[in-house]
Amino acid sequence: MRRFCLLALLLISLVLNNSNAQTASRRSAQSRNRTITNIVREIDAKNIERTIRQLVSFGTRNTLSEQNDPKRGIGAARDWLYAEFLKAAEASGGRMTVEKQSFEQPKAARVPQPTELTNLVTTFKGTQPESASRIYVVSGHYDSMCSSPTDAKCDAPGANDDASGTAAVLEVARVMSKYKFDATIVFMTVPGEEQGLLGATHYAEDAKQKAVNIDAMFTNDIIGNTLGGNGVRDRGTVRVFSEGVPSNETAAEATVRRSVGGENDSASRQLARFIKETGESYVPQMKVMLVYRRDRYGRGGDHNPFLERGFPAVRFTEVNEEYKHQHQNVRVENGVQYGDLPEFVDFAYIANVARVNAASLAMLALAPSRPQNVNILTARLSNDTDLKWDANKEPDIAGYEIVWRDTTSPVWTNSKAVGNVTSFTMKGMSKDNYFFGVRAVDKDGNRSPVTYPKPLGRNQSSSPSSSQQTP
Ligand SMILES: [Zn+2]
Repeated sequence: MRRFCLLALLLISLVLNNSNAQTASRRSAQSRNRTITNIVREIDAKNIERTIRQLVSFGTRNTLSEQNDPKRGIGAARDWLYAEFLKAAEASGGRMTVEKQSFEQPKAARVPQPTELTNLVTTFKGTQPESASRIYVVSGHYDSMCSSPTDAKCDAPGANDDASGTAAVLEVARVMSKYKFDATIVFMTVPGEEQGLLGATHYAEDAKQKAVNIDAMFTNDIIGNTLGGNGVRDRGTVRVFSEGVPSNETAAEATVRRSVGGENDSASRQLARFIKETGESYVPQMKVMLVYRRDRYGRGGDHNPFLERGFPAVRFTEVNEEYKHQHQNVRVENGVQYGDLPEFVDFAYIANVARVNAASLAMLALAPSRPQNVNILTARLSNDTDLKWDANKEPDIAGYEIVWRDTTSPVWTNSKAVGNVTSFTMKGMSKDNYFFGVRAVDKDGNRSPVTYPKPLGRNQSSSPSSSQQTP
C-alpha cells in the first residue's frame, strides 16, 4: 500500500512537471523572435555543399601554396571566397562590406619563409547607434593541410578541416545579410590556422591594439563529420568548448576567485551557456554539448588568440572525430581510404551547426549588451544577496533578470525578472549558497548573455583589488 502511494505520488509529480515544461515551451514559442526563426529556416545545406566542393576543387589550400594560380592553391580559394562574400553582401543595402586583410607573416615554426596571408573580413554594420560598436565575430579557417603542414604541393582537400566551418560562415552571412541587427557582426575566414593560428592571431592582435569591443567570438572548425572513428554516428549534437578560468586572468582576479569561486563562470562560459539555451530553443533538432575546457587534448583553434587577449570565445566542433580523415595525405592503405574528402562530410549536419551559430549570433546582435560592472555587495554579512550593475544605454532596454543556480550546477537553473533597475536584493538567499548572474532584456524579449558579478566591499571601487574577509 505504502509503495503504491509513493508510486502514485511519483506519477502525479511527473505529470505536473511535464505540464509545467509544456507551459514553459509554449511561452518561449510565443516570445520567439521571428527574424531568428526565418534565418534558421533559410540556411540551406545545398549552398554549404557547393562551397565545400568548390574549396576542395582548388586541390590544396595550404597557406604556403600558390598565391597567384587561378585554379590551384590558397590564392584561388581566397579570391573565390572574396567574390562569394561580395555576392552575399549584395542583399544588405550597403551595410555589409568585404575586406581583404593582408599581411606579411614573418618566418615561423611552420612558415619557412615570409609569406603573405589574407584574412577575409566581412563586416555587417549594426543599426542601433548605442550598439554598433559592439562586435560579434564568427570564423572558420580556409587553409588546409595534408600529413605535413609545410607540404604545399600535396593534395589537401580539407573538406571537413575546415571547408566545413568556412562554408557555414559564408552561408550564415548570405542569409543574415537581408536582416537588421543592433550590434555589428563580423563574418571572417582566415588562413594560417594549420601554420599556428596565424590569421586569427593577426586579426585579434589588431583588434586589441585598436581597442575594438569584441563581445564574443565563435570559431567553427571541423564541424562536418558525423561518423566517428569510434563507430558512433551522431547527427544531432555539436560540441561547444569554453574555457573556465580566463586565459588573461590577472593575479588580483585569481586571488578573488580562489576566495569565492568563479572558475566555472568566465565570460566565455556564459557565452557557451547562452549558445546552448538559444541554439536548442531555435534549432530543436540539435543538442549543444557543452565541454568545459578550452579545446580537445593536444589541439588548438582560432579562438585561442582571442581568449589570450581577453575576448570571450568558444569553439564549435563535431562530437565524434575521425582521424583517418584529418591531416592525412589522400591515399588507400590496406583497403582503407585516408584523407579529408567531401564524401565523408555530412552537409545537412553542417547546415544544422550553421543554424545554431546563426540563431546565437542573431540573438547576441539583437539583444542589449550584457550588463557591465555587475557587483555582488559583500560589506554586510547577510542572508540576503545584494547585486548592483550599471544601467544599459540602449533605448529599447526593458529591464534585467537575475539568474542563479546551485554552486554544483553546470548551467543556470532559475531566473527572476526584476524590472528596469540597477540594483536588487535577493531576500533570504545567501550569496554563500548560490551563484548569481545578471542579464539584460529588451522590449522584444531578446536576452543578453549573463554577466557574473565581482565582489565589492564597502569602500571598494568597482574593480576590487582585494576581497574583504571576516574570520
Ligand atoms: Zn582546423
